[in-house]
Amino acid sequence: MTLLHDLCDFLLPRRCLICHQRLNPEEHILCAACHVELPLTDHHLAAHSPLERRFWGQIPVVRAASMLHHDGEKTRRLIHLLKYHQHPEVATHLAALYARQLKDSGFFLSIDCIIPLPLHWRRQLRRGYNQSHYIARGIAREVHLPIYRNVVRRVVNNPSQTTLSGKDRIDNVQDIFRLTHPQKIQGKHLLLIDDVTTTGATLASCARELSKAPQVRISILTLSIASQTPLPNSPNATPDPSVFGVPLVE
Ligand SMILES: [Zn+2]
Repeated sequence: MTLLHDLCDFLLPRRCLICHQRLNPEEHILCAACHVELPLTDHHLAAHSPLERRFWGQIPVVRAASMLHHDGEKTRRLIHLLKYHQHPEVATHLAALYARQLKDSGFFLSIDCIIPLPLHWRRQLRRGYNQSHYIARGIAREVHLPIYRNVVRRVVNNPSQTTLSGKDRIDNVQDIFRLTHPQKIQGKHLLLIDDVTTTGATLASCARELSKAPQVRISILTLSIASQTPLPNSPNATPDPSVFGVPLVE
């Protein structure tokens, strides 16, 4: 098996997705040098991470963490490969690395299941996959949590958020999700997954829909976070006290 692996590596050398250097047998997806230079956020070390603060005043979240600063060139390249160049393995690889880091901070202790943010079926058909599923797989591989793929659906194929700002982003994602199996998540602590957070408007919209199920609590994990101002009208002052053991109310 090792011989076969070595032969494949010789005939079709694997290369780093960022710098295109040839990978050593023990390296996967990225070379060691590019790994070291990834712009990690270290959100798990903060009492209230910048991602968590982004949702204050919008939705109650238990914990929230993002792995990478999106503004770094390496992060942008990886997310671009993931979303537009058929490299979903990037998501699984990064998510597994991040899960290992978060595990030691107790991030997953009370979480019952993982919910990948759904794409509209048209967008998923065009891309061929939902990148959030691959992030969820990487996390599940490390922490052995179940992935619930069909409890919430995206019922509106809203235009991309990238060219919108402020209130337009909120309006663009209102009522675009539909909770289909509330009984499956009742009383559970959910980990909602997405690739990139900018304002957090799409995640907040999905979390609001999920919180229609009785007594759910929600944590959020994303691969990268863009440095952008929070949603308008967010008080951004204190964490929402309703996250601790009290059913979420819209
Ligand atoms: Zn490299």
